[in-house]
Formats: sequence, structure tokens, C-alpha cells
Amino acid sequence: MSEKQKTCAIIGSGIAGLGAAIRMANKGYKVTVFERNSFPGGKLSSFENKGYRFDFGPSVFTMPQNVEDLFSLSKKNIKDYFEYIPLNPGYKYFYEDGTIFNAYFPKERFAEEAAKQTNETKENILNYLDYSEKIYNLTKEVFLLNSLHKIKNFLNWHTVKGLINFGKIDALTTMNNANTKWFKDPRIVQLFNRYATYNGSSPFLAPGTMNVIPHLEINMGIFYPKGGMVSITESIVKLGKDIGVNFEFNNGVSEIILEGKKAKGVKTDKGIYDFDVVISNMDVYNTYHKLMPNQKRPEKILSQEKSSSAIVFYWGIKKNFEQLGLHNIFWGKEYEKEFDTVVNKKNIYQDPTVYINITSKHSPSDAPEGCENWFAMVNAPNNSGQDWDTIVKETRENVIAKISKMLKTDIRPLIECESLFTPIVLEQKTASAFGAIYGNASNNKFAAFMRHPNFHSSIKNLYFCGGSVHPGPSIPLCLMSAKIATDMID
Ligand SMILES: Cc1cc2nc3c(=O)[nH]c(=O)nc-3n(C[C@H](O)[C@H](O)[C@H](O)COP(=O)(O)OP(=O)(O)OC[C@H]3O[C@@H](n4cnc5c(N)ncnc54)[C@H](O)[C@@H]3O)c2cc1C
Repeated sequence: MSEKQKTCAIIGSGIAGLGAAIRMANKGYKVTVFERNSFPGGKLSSFENKGYRFDFGPSVFTMPQNVEDLFSLSKKNIKDYFEYIPLNPGYKYFYEDGTIFNAYFPKERFAEEAAKQTNETKENILNYLDYSEKIYNLTKEVFLLNSLHKIKNFLNWHTVKGLINFGKIDALTTMNNANTKWFKDPRIVQLFNRYATYNGSSPFLAPGTMNVIPHLEINMGIFYPKGGMVSITESIVKLGKDIGVNFEFNNGVSEIILEGKKAKGVKTDKGIYDFDVVISNMDVYNTYHKLMPNQKRPEKILSQEKSSSAIVFYWGIKKNFEQLGLHNIFWGKEYEKEFDTVVNKKNIYQDPTVYINITSKHSPSDAPEGCENWFAMVNAPNNSGQDWDTIVKETRENVIAKISKMLKTDIRPLIECESLFTPIVLEQKTASAFGAIYGNASNNKFAAFMRHPNFHSSIKNLYFCGGSVHPGPSIPLCLMSAKIATDMID
């Protein structure tokens, strides 16, 4: 007699939940993904407003092999589902002193261009990018690719190598301290400091080890998924359906049903379902507080400082700006004050650095002819009860004034429609605790160790994946979390 097929519930269809669904289906499980929204993807979703299409959250696509792995694992040709192209330049950086720096690829071209536009040498930039790669090679096995919470992962050569080379990963200094040792030109220091924002932290507090991030982007490349970022979600959902994953939209989980030290299944408004394994892709803080409020909580981990959030103005703009690309950064002049305002004053600085993403540069159908879809984002604190209406109003004025000045065009009359992202909107849409985008902040040297493991310490068949648990946020790391969690099962 054949063995009964085992079953797995995934709570949430964020990118990590989708990755976990594909991996569990490939292990032979009957997988059901419960999603409280009517659409998949969580932060990696999309919406429309008056003829403009906008990606809701992520806009920078790196390390595509993490997506590719899901298709090869499922023995499907990725080209039948998903296509992406390398970007060149990746970013356009606009400084208030008039400097415009295009971040070209490969790294030699990046360094050449940086040397042309700033007072740094090509050699020094290339040496820095080698240093960033070295940090990656020394830390990836311990901090990214495996569970940080299984003792066996520490008893191996990779950890020994990491320990021998501890001094080279800058764990005891801050990103900014490390970067000011490397560079004299403040424009380049600022450029490399910015990578702290990729996990919602401050470069003036986050450990220098996070200088690994430039390697993942500048050395490895930055890509654009045809059809926008949401096509990552859409293609994995299609793959899931093709290999038998069941998706339950509009069916949010209200409780993880436990029996002793075992998860028995999940409860939703529509019923109670039994499962052999439960994987939560819901923010881990809310998984404990909302889905199993009577269980003992790992308070030390859950009470860590939360990451920053953002304000995003999604603007339909009635004009084409030839000088802009897909990814554009308009620097604020006082970076330290900007982060101090976000981290300590829980507010947004009056001269914020503004990131503008315009997918219509590559996908013309994302905006009406002659127009552009602007995603204008500034760093913001997470929600601790601030008066967001006032913060948004002031920030809107500051952003419009800054961009109008730097582009020498009054953009106010060009704004045809507007939607808004705030920490409150994010919390409502994705259940991200306090509207923090990236789970716990990395504003101290122990942060990597203070993310929740991908398993529950005493409930055997309960696992976690997503940006709020190990190894952390972003599309590639979330997909790694799905792999780490599901590799532990069976
Ligand atoms: C503005 C912004 C910009 C970003 N920029 C980038 C970028 O450029 N590049 C990059 O790589 N990353 C970026 N990120 C980060 C990246 O989007 C996230 O790290 C990643 O998408 C998080 O995925 P996740 O798997 O943790 O799930 P989430 O996206 O948080 O989704 C969780 C899902 O679970 C569902 N859910 C929650 N509770 C329940 C429940 N009880 N029952 C059922 N369903 C539930 C939610 O509705 C949601 O769909 C950005 C994020 C934002 C918001």
C-alpha cells in the first residue's frame, strides 16, 4: 500500500512563502498556501492607478539564481515563465553639487566612472569591491546559506575560516567607519554607506560586515524582470499551480492549532485544516502575537529594535525625463543627520535622500504615452504612533521641492495621480509588525544573531521563512530563508 501523501500549510504568499511552497511540493508534499489578501506576493506585488502600473515594494532585483533554482528544481524551463535582463547602468546618482554618476557594469567600468566623477582612484574602488567580495566569501556559509541556529553548522571549516579572518569582516566597526577609512571623497563614502538601507539600518550604527552588500549588487550585477518586479511573484505562482500547489486567497490564518508540542494545522474564517507541517511566512512577531498568543515567546528576539520603513509617493507624471533611468538616487546633503532623524527622532529629515524608480523606462506600457510612473521613496522610521498625516504632508513638500530643484523643472503640476505607502499601509497590507519593512534592524553588531531561527525551538513541525527571520530581508535572502527552512524538513 502506498504511503499517504504528507501535507504542508504555508501561511502567507510573500516571496519566501512562495519559495517554500515550490520546495515543499518538490519534496512530495501536498502544499496549500493560505493568503489573507486577494492577490499573492505581499510586498512583491503591484497595483494600478489611472493607467499607470506600479510595483508596490521592491524594485531592485539581484542574485536571480535564487529564483532560477526554483524552476530547475521543478524541472521546468524558466524561460517559459520568467525573463530578466541585466541593467547598465544600474543606478544614476545625482548629487546636489551637480555631479551625476552612472553606476555601470562590470565593476571595472563602475570604478572607471567613479574615478572620472570623483576624487577616488579606480584602483581603490576596485580594491574596495574585492574587500566586499572577501566579506561575502568569509561569511556566506555561516550567515546566509545555512541555519545560524544549528550547532552542526558551526563545527566546520567555514566557521573556522571565518574566525581566523575575523578582522577582515569589519564586525567590530560600523559601515561608515570602515568606508571613511577606505575613501576620502564624501560622495563615494555616501554611496557605499547607502547599502545599509537595504536592510533598513543606519550605516552609522550597522556593523562594517554589511559592506558585503555592494558585492551582491556591483560585482554580481543588477537585473530587471520583464514586466516589472511583480512578474517574479506571478511566475512563481504559475510554477506552483503547474506542480500542484493549492493557493487559498482571501483565506487568512487566525490561529496555528497546537497539540502539545506539535502543530496540528491552521484555523481560518473558512474552517480548520489539518497539516503535517506548518511554515509561517507571516512576520514572526505577529506569528507569535496573533496566531499563537498563548505560547511562550522568544521575547529577547521579538523585542529587538525594528528596521526602518519608508514613505513612497507613487506618482503618475505627465512628462518624460530623458536624464532619468530605471533607478535614480537624489542625495540628501547631510546623511548622518538624515539617519539620526529616522533612528533616534523617529521622523523624516527635511532634506531626505530620494530614490526614484521608473519602470516605464523599460516597460513602456506601465505609463500612458509621454508619461512616466514614478515610485519616489524616502527612508522613514517604523510606526511608533507618529502623526503620519503631518509627516507625509511635510515630506511631500520637501521631496517635490528637492526634485524640482535638482531636475530644474517644477514637478508639482506634472503629478497626474498619487498613491501612498506609509508604515501603516504596509502593516495593513502585509501584517509587517510596526510597518517595519525589514524585520529587526541591523543597528548593532549582534543583530545577525538576533533574528529568529527558521524553526521553532520546541514545536517540532513549525517552521519560519521570510524577511523577519534568518538570514534576513530582500528577495534573495527571503528565498534563502525558504531553502534553509525546507531543507530542515525530513
Ligand atoms: C518599499 C519597499 C522596497 C523594497 N525594496 C527592495 C528591493 O529593491 N530589493 C529587494 O530585494 N527587496 C526589497 N524590499 C524588501 C522585500 O520586499 C522583502 O524583504 C520581501 O519581499 C519580504 O518577503 P516575505 O517573504 O517576508 O513576505 P511579505 O512580502 O512580508 O509577505 C507576507 C505575506 O503573508 C501574508 N500574511 C500575513 N499574515 C497572514 C495570515 N495570518 N494569513 C495568511 N496570510 C498572511 C501577507 O498578506 C503577505 O502576502 C523592499 C520592500 C519594500 C516594502
